[in-house]
Amino acid sequence: MIRLSKRLEKIACEVPKGSRLADIGSDHALLPSYLAQQGLIARGVAGEVNEGPYEAASRQVRAAGLKDKIAVRLGDGLEVLEPGEVDVITIAGMGGALIVSILEAGKAKLSGVSRLVLQPNVGEDAVRVWLLANGWELVGEQILEEDGKIYEILTADRPEDGADGSLGEPNEGQTAKLRRLYEPLVLADGLVVDKELLLRMGPYLIREGAQAWIAKWRLELDKLEHICAQLERSDTEAARAREREFRIEMKRIEEVLSACTRKDKPSFN
Ligand code: SAM
Repeated sequence: MIRLSKRLEKIACEVPKGSRLADIGSDHALLPSYLAQQGLIARGVAGEVNEGPYEAASRQVRAAGLKDKIAVRLGDGLEVLEPGEVDVITIAGMGGALIVSILEAGKAKLSGVSRLVLQPNVGEDAVRVWLLANGWELVGEQILEEDGKIYEILTADRPEDGADGSLGEPNEGQTAKLRRLYEPLVLADGLVVDKELLLRMGPYLIREGAQAWIAKWRLELDKLEHICAQLERSDTEAARAREREFRIEMKRIEEVLSACTRKDKPSFN
């Protein structure tokens, strides 16, 4: 039986039962193989751009006896898909900028896709920005720590637009709903978390304030402090200005963290 890491398990849980799934950048095709073996997907596509992982995915699918359920395809991003072929796409284990470029380049292949499950290793904000700009509703965020690394998983659905439940551009009401998620969040002590910070730190994750999320942002503050220490050594005006920007950013993050870790944790609006 195929066993998944905690990270892939959480991603697997976001794939609705009976979906036609494409896992892009599938590497060993563990995720689609596991889901097919458990009878949780109707069928799957494992997409890979590199020969080595493509061979590994093909071997995995053959060894698991899943060749009739999972097609392993070599190609860049969503180009391995026919329009309307799948209804869920997972893209995990790469940077947010790469995930965005795959989605952007493959927009035509997203028609008929109702859910995206995305796990950027870094650059989560770029993914949130893309989802918002392209009418995808962020319906959930998860954060977990595994083997000393912290991962975020973003799940987004495309709102239905037709009376027949078809997918397409969000209507006015749906657009307003998408915007609401990023409306300024007022903490009980009056601290306002603006859209930029919500996109950066995660609108659901901020509200939840999980331990792994706090740990992630403490690490981020350490990294920013390190950059500031380096900038301090430079005597150019540009370095001073950059440092000031970083210090402002750090202060905003610290304020949010302190509000989220207080014993009398504020209730959010
Ligand atoms: N998705 C698996 C996971 O989360 O465990 C594997 C992640 S692995 C670190 C990233 C994989 O994405 C690599 O196998 C790489 O070859 C593949 N990849 C990178 N860019 C890609 C692209 N544009 N299209 C398809 N696959 C890509």
